[in-house]
Amino acid sequence: MISETTLAGRKAVYFTLGCKLNFAETSTVAQRLEDMGVTRARKDEQADICFINTCSVTEVADHKCRQAIHRLVKLHPGAFVVVTGCYAQLRPEDISKIEGVSLVLGSNEKGRAVEMICNHFTEGTEKTEGTENMAFVPSCSCGDRTRYFLKVQDGCDYFCTYCTIPFARGRSRNGSVASLVAQAEEVARQGGKEIVLTGVNIGDFGRTTGESFLQLIEALDQVQGIERYRISSIEPNLLTDDVLRFCAGSRAFMPHFHVPLQSGSDEVLRLMHRRYDTSLFAQKMQRIRELMPDAFIGVDVIVGMRGETDELFQEARRFMDCQPVSQYHVFSYSERPGTKALNIPHRVSPQEKKERSQQVLDISRAHTRAFYTQYIGTVRPVLLEHSKRKGMLSGFTDNYIKVELCSTIRDNQIVQVRLTGWNADETALTGEIV
Ligand code: SF4
Repeated sequence: MISETTLAGRKAVYFTLGCKLNFAETSTVAQRLEDMGVTRARKDEQADICFINTCSVTEVADHKCRQAIHRLVKLHPGAFVVVTGCYAQLRPEDISKIEGVSLVLGSNEKGRAVEMICNHFTEGTEKTEGTENMAFVPSCSCGDRTRYFLKVQDGCDYFCTYCTIPFARGRSRNGSVASLVAQAEEVARQGGKEIVLTGVNIGDFGRTTGESFLQLIEALDQVQGIERYRISSIEPNLLTDDVLRFCAGSRAFMPHFHVPLQSGSDEVLRLMHRRYDTSLFAQKMQRIRELMPDAFIGVDVIVGMRGETDELFQEARRFMDCQPVSQYHVFSYSERPGTKALNIPHRVSPQEKKERSQQVLDISRAHTRAFYTQYIGTVRPVLLEHSKRKGMLSGFTDNYIKVELCSTIRDNQIVQVRLTGWNADETALTGEIV
């Protein structure tokens, strides 16, 4: 039982690194604490609680996490410092050594963070020790006033050779369709219009409830008030024809997909233990284009994986260049302790990784430019969001083109916008409301 009065008036700071799922989970913790009277500490204010949600996807991420912990401990002496997330799960002993850290919770214990913060501030209540808890912890949060992130699944059973996420987040599990529909209905009551479905391996939805991802999206599509859904990322082998046909004819699922390819070389995919080859990936791309010609397709790629020789990279590069992809997100392979990839003998030097990243980024830039350019002069629906630029609004079209426009009308509305050209720094299209 959580005592709310012990927290009223306390101040907290939150720091998150990593994926959308982490951001969604931090927002949920912040919301729950806010409901109990905890406010966010302003820049110059001393916090009573520091909540740090870490990532361990690369060595750089580990380093950033350590830096953030040191910085927050120094800025908020005496605060109750909770560190959670993948880095905390994988390297709890590293974090415990840092002076000032009060509590280290693995990813699987993240759902108990609020309870443990309350325990700390409740006099006479014994501290509860963290235990392994593999239950699905629900999370739905509003990222930026217009877009909500609904966690539908957590964990992964795939064990790709380069990845530590299954060790950090545990086995695949999910909320029930009914509970997720109820959360989407709550978002609609709060006035939310767009929901991004997040998870670690979303297409694997249903492990714990015997339901399917298709059943989930069919049910969500019927929630009144939610006008847009996006699927944050889905493995190519789990992007079934049923899912694609449903999205193509659905009321609210947007023509926008994010699909991890990781490598355009079959040999590298084999070394990664990915569950598809380039021919299956190409079929999926083709099928998306047949059913939804306007769809934005974002694709993740890792360069410099152990075993990726120059020849294999060139093969991958040629494959990537001819796919109907709108944007590539490039990551440099990072050695992670405990992963099977460390047994692969051929290592790629940091310089080669840098050059390969640049080559994929060049392909990506050309693809994104071509994708955006074909819509100049057309009219598309845009969900208006606040922009950092004064007097401007920004937003995304249904097919995920970033748009900037001058307007005084309120955000969180979907309006028809004519796309007129490129903005000054060529990062978005300009538009005018029609
Ligand atoms: S599918 Fe592979 S890369 Fe993705 S989380 Fe699971 S193990 Fe990691």
